[in-house]
Amino acid sequence: MKTDLQIAQENTMDNIEKIARKAKIDPDYLEVYGKNKAKIDLKIMDKIADNRNGKLILVTAINPTKAGEGKSTTTIGLVDGLAQINKMVIGCLREPSLGPVFGLKGGATGGGYAQVVPMEEINLHFTGDMHAITAANNLISAVLDNHIYQGNELNIDPTKVVWKRCLDMNDRTLRSITIAQDKKTNGVERKDGFIITVATEIMAIMCLSKDLQDFEKRVSQAVVAYTYDDQPVTVGDLQVEGAVTLVMKEALKPNLVQTLEKTPVFIHGGPFANIAHGCNSLIATRMALKLSDYVVTEAGFGADLGAEKFFDIKCRYGELKPNAVVIVATARALKLHGGVPADQLKEENVPAILEGIKNLEKHIESIKQYRVPYIVAINKFSADTQAEVNAILQWCKENGHRVVLSDAWASGGAGAVDLAQEVVRMCEEDSKFEPLYDLDLSLEEKIETIVRKIYGGRSVIFSDRAKAQLEEFKQAGWDKLPVCMAKTPNSLTDDAKIVGRPTGFDIHVQELRISAGAGFVVVLTGNIMTMPGLPKDPAALHMGINEKGISYGIF
Ligand code: ADP
Repeated sequence: MKTDLQIAQENTMDNIEKIARKAKIDPDYLEVYGKNKAKIDLKIMDKIADNRNGKLILVTAINPTKAGEGKSTTTIGLVDGLAQINKMVIGCLREPSLGPVFGLKGGATGGGYAQVVPMEEINLHFTGDMHAITAANNLISAVLDNHIYQGNELNIDPTKVVWKRCLDMNDRTLRSITIAQDKKTNGVERKDGFIITVATEIMAIMCLSKDLQDFEKRVSQAVVAYTYDDQPVTVGDLQVEGAVTLVMKEALKPNLVQTLEKTPVFIHGGPFANIAHGCNSLIATRMALKLSDYVVTEAGFGADLGAEKFFDIKCRYGELKPNAVVIVATARALKLHGGVPADQLKEENVPAILEGIKNLEKHIESIKQYRVPYIVAINKFSADTQAEVNAILQWCKENGHRVVLSDAWASGGAGAVDLAQEVVRMCEEDSKFEPLYDLDLSLEEKIETIVRKIYGGRSVIFSDRAKAQLEEFKQAGWDKLPVCMAKTPNSLTDDAKIVGRPTGFDIHVQELRISAGAGFVVVLTGNIMTMPGLPKDPAALHMGINEKGISYGIF
């Protein structure tokens, strides 16, 4: 069987100018990066401002398991499926981070015959956005520590700096470090730490900004530290928002690439779905909506994290109205949710599927609350038996849920034509989208609403620290922001080991963090990793480039 990389390497791409024409992008706004990638000048938005918005389709999934759900694969398959039935469509995806590429996951550009290309470049440096974000973030750190060193006019308490340095790499040794050691001229010694670039607030801000001006305004509001008398210090106080915006000016332009079947896709921004909201940039989504009739996008992890934040944060800020939701499930993952050990997934087990399907049921109930038409897409694996697939189809039909089989991984767009046709029909229906909660609710009420209505939990238990912060955040005027839940993606609870559809559980809130620039309050429910480590056998040890210049190992 061919690897994803081999399939991508065998593909012949169209020049990006041709893809841009398909996307109705005027050449005046096309900034070409080599033959197969381009950035789009944001000025195009003035020209297309009066265009009617296309339909917005979100692809989400059940709680992810080690078995893999194939959200990106299904998203790209659906983009090609829509193109195959002659619909004008643009996909909107997230940019992969080098951390997971070299760690455990490998590439993040879809799989099988549903991929975006140039696969290697997208997964590696692409058009340099990650580097720009890293530079912008670290510029703020450098200016901040310099400010403290040069007399500290803002009265910053060096033990209360919350802005961390970043790197787009999995490197656990940098989680907790001491900076400015040895000599006074090295600066003021303090404890510090690195986070991965995709977990930075700069990434979240980039993905929620409407344009360059909005980006600058948001960045200036980001909190970097607290003073000795506990007052927040912002990027604006350091007066560095101008330089940061300058560093980011190219990165804010969406990147255009293509699928294996030559359908246009924007790949832009990729915030972590735990500490941030896990969706591609609003700029790319809004641009795609103005350019095409259908826009297919995805949100990280399962519907409890990704879709909830897509609706309650991204759609709210971007004034987006989603028209349809695709919920991806696989027989393998449902078996895991039904209690089957990972090493027995190859064996047929219909009863386990019918037990695990309760996880899917919860996510369907959650999506229904947003009042957007939905469909279940079964991402077909070759090992799935007919009896297993039939069991899922039958359960969906008996319970009144639209369902379709997607074979995009094996067959590309042709394998997702049925899904595409259903999606087109759904987009003709009336989406009555509304966010789950009102911003006027208190932070506690917002958190409780999500826990009860989306996770299916009983109540929320706040640590003493979180309780004190609820009050502090209210005083600071941050209580009217949406909340960004940071929870394990693997379970509806805050315990990664509990699969399926648990009930009667409590969610434990340890701590709150403010992302005033991005515009949300992060609610931490457990130990959330913002700088991952590498596994014992990292993917990086199996990668390289041969004497013919052909790379290998990026999965
Ligand atoms: P997600 O977006 O849910 O993380 P991806 O679409 O990135 O998942 O897929 C994860 C991995 O699983 C990829 O390597 C992909 O090739 C593989 N995969 C996805 N769907 C299938 C399938 N139907 N059959 C075999 N492998 C698949």
